[in-house]
Amino acid sequence: MLKTTSGFDRIGEENAFAVLARATELASQGRDIINLGIGQPDFKTPEHIVEAAVKALKDGHHGYTPSTGILPLREAVCQDLLTHSGVEPNPDNVVIVPGGKVTMFMAILMFGEPGAEILYPDPGFPIYRSMIEFTGAKPVPIPIREENEFAFSAEETLSLITPKTRLIILNSPANPTGGVTPRSEIEKLVKGLEAHPDVAILSDEIYSRMTYEGLAHTSLLEFESIRDRLILLNGWSKTWAMTGWRMGYAVWPDALIDKARKLAVNCWSCVNAPAQFAGLAAMTGPQTAVDAMMEEFDRRRKIVVNGLNELPGITCRTPMGAFYAFPNITETGWKSKELAKVLLEEVGIAVVGGPDFGSLGEGYIRLSYANSAENIQRAITRIGAFLGE
Ligand code: PLP
Repeated sequence: MLKTTSGFDRIGEENAFAVLARATELASQGRDIINLGIGQPDFKTPEHIVEAAVKALKDGHHGYTPSTGILPLREAVCQDLLTHSGVEPNPDNVVIVPGGKVTMFMAILMFGEPGAEILYPDPGFPIYRSMIEFTGAKPVPIPIREENEFAFSAEETLSLITPKTRLIILNSPANPTGGVTPRSEIEKLVKGLEAHPDVAILSDEIYSRMTYEGLAHTSLLEFESIRDRLILLNGWSKTWAMTGWRMGYAVWPDALIDKARKLAVNCWSCVNAPAQFAGLAAMTGPQTAVDAMMEEFDRRRKIVVNGLNELPGITCRTPMGAFYAFPNITETGWKSKELAKVLLEEVGIAVVGGPDFGSLGEGYIRLSYANSAENIQRAITRIGAFLGE
């Protein structure tokens, strides 16, 4: 029998992809499926970005690039961070990666091993826990609570730190809840973290440009006292509707950048060259498409939240970021995963059960509003009819 390493007995995955596969299968059988399951914008990548990739191909950018990414792109990342967070890192600290996810993979590999503890949000992006388990480290959930508007609590997070804690993973705006942690709470956390200089921080800010009602995003990068151990995760997937291009970036502190570079060399050599030129056009070109997409998401957000709150047994907080609603379904009497299953199989609505994002997700389902307002309205009507039966 083939004997793989023990990590593969523990590695998990992302159930949103299984939901997508099943939804696609049902649709191919002729069923009218409304997909509110997958976390990707339903918009096309803006034309000028696509054109930049085509031009790069025609101009002959067919070869390897530096493993951390082409310099103009790393410079553009730093300029973009200056614009949006007021801090301009050194391009030498930036690593362009094939998707935002890769940075969490790298950071967790760097700090996870048996005996180590890693804190991560629950409910949260499922790959955090999966990768922590893979390394043999102990996953320590940071509870993300509805009564706290799905923000993390600085006090509770700090209380979970032990001498074994190596890494803390934070995510705001958050998947799956749409929660945005207030600046005052982040400041409190940073203050507390100053007493733990041996703990690294991975801040997943992939939804940094996706906040509503004028709410400003607070980047952990703004806090100088932790910058020497902060890994910033961000990328192009969500902001510029580029999930399939596989384009992400990280800012690594001086102490870790060479390790990150070596991981890149050992695994993917460099990110697809024309995709990097597309990423450059995304950051340096007009941002009108981003603004238009956010306006549309905002319109849908209101439809989703108002619609869900009208349904029997469902209450839904207003998400202030990302493009997910995370309604509380406990009063319907359904368990989350069972409700998600029946909604897909019988009602034709793809959603993801809360427990797919951690044990504290029980009692919730995630709806992504990356679908047309009309389809969202239809989905809510159908869910309402089903629950009313
Ligand atoms: N981080 C969070 C919180 C996400 O929700 C996602 C994607 O859904 C990612 C990272 C990964 O993004 P990418 O598709 O760029 O790998």
